[in-house]
Amino acid sequence: MTDKNIKDNTYWRDKLTSEQFKIAREKGTERAFSGEYYDCKTPGTYTCICCESELFSSETKYDSGSGWPSFWNALDKKNIELNVDESHGMSRTEVLCGKCGAHLGHLFDDGPKPTGQRYCINSVSLKLNPKK
Ligand code: FE
Repeated sequence: MTDKNIKDNTYWRDKLTSEQFKIAREKGTERAFSGEYYDCKTPGTYTCICCESELFSSETKYDSGSGWPSFWNALDKKNIELNVDESHGMSRTEVLCGKCGAHLGHLFDDGPKPTGQRYCINSVSLKLNPKK
C-alpha cells in the first residue's frame, strides 16, 4: 500500500511542476486565495496530485474564508496521515497523503459541525476529478 519510501525526489521532480514539488514534497504553502480550488464548488472527488489517492469529497468542502480549500472531513481517514508539526514556532497538525506522504496542509479544530474539524489544504496538492 505505501510507496512513500520507494519514490525519491528525483522521481517527484520529474513528475511534478516545480510549484507542486515545493508544496507537496517540501511542505510549502500556496498563497491564500491564489489556488485553483479555494472557491471551487464543482461536485467531485479531490485526489492527491502525486499518487491520485482519493482524499476529500466536494460534499464536505465548505467556505472557511481562509483562502484555502477547506473540508470538514476526509473521504477516508485511512488515506490520510497526521503528524505533529512544530515548525514556524507553532504546534500544528500536518495533513499528509497516507499513501505517498505528500504534504497536503494542516488540520484545525475550528471547523463546522458535525466534526468541528477544518482540513486546510493546498489546492496545489490536489486534483479534482469532477463527478460524471
Ligand atoms: Fe499521495
